[in-house]
Amino acid sequence: MQRKPDWLRRPFVWDPNQRTVEGILKELNLNTVCGEANCPNYGECFANKTATFMILGTRCTRGCRFCNVSHGAPDDVDPNEPRNIALAVAKLGLKYVVVTSVTRDDLADGGASHFAETIRAIRQTCPNTAIEVLIPDFKGDTDALKIVTDARPDVISHNMETVKRLYDTVRPEAVYERSLSVLLNIKRLNPNVKSKTGIMVGLGESEEEVLELLNDLRRVGCELLTIGQYLAPSANHHPVIEYIHPDRFAEYAKAAYARGFSFVASAPYVRSSYRAAEAMNE
Ligand code: SF4
Repeated sequence: MQRKPDWLRRPFVWDPNQRTVEGILKELNLNTVCGEANCPNYGECFANKTATFMILGTRCTRGCRFCNVSHGAPDDVDPNEPRNIALAVAKLGLKYVVVTSVTRDDLADGGASHFAETIRAIRQTCPNTAIEVLIPDFKGDTDALKIVTDARPDVISHNMETVKRLYDTVRPEAVYERSLSVLLNIKRLNPNVKSKTGIMVGLGESEEEVLELLNDLRRVGCELLTIGQYLAPSANHHPVIEYIHPDRFAEYAKAAYARGFSFVASAPYVRSSYRAAEAMNE
């Protein structure tokens, strides 16, 4: 594995809140992608009272080559989860909450109704908390997507993750055009919801391919964008092909704003939910 460059070295941010947060999560039997994915921004986000909850269990029905989430036979859906997440949001005093999930291709609606129940539970308990949901592609089922858009979260995010050419090797069960149509349909089904996506670089893509992806994203009306460096969770995952220099992240941000994105976070340590509250206000 390549040696990490200096710009990827930074001290681990420890926040005393972290123990409190972990205690509340345990008490309410909740999962966060922050913990499951070993996110480098864990401390900073918790310090900013932002957290990303992962619903619908911890085992995914897909096996993306970059992802650290476990795969296999999915867990039973916990009917108390929506209420427990709303309780956790209240206890933590979150201003902005992101709710994501593993992909549940085993469920008829892909888990869409569970997302909608969670949004409604948070709205009821914490009316001043902004809500972002980071959704799977629901296998392109627009009826399932409509269940989520009708629940009117503030932001709906669906990650493209990488450029078209790399889909087969990086996320083989996903389809590039299908993911683009999810973003397009978010705006069609509810123009008041902000649409957002996240991509990783350093998986072997070229600059031209990234710019092509930015064009495709603007073509489907995507407004908010995050770009971060891919870091391999283990030697068994897709290798890091390149550590992208911060200057190129700045160039990508410039190119994205020039194409009309209203908010772009582009830097080595950026992840989908990073600085999410700022994005919402753009
Ligand atoms: S679908 Fe999502 S949770 Fe599942 S393996 Fe892929 S990235 Fe990970």
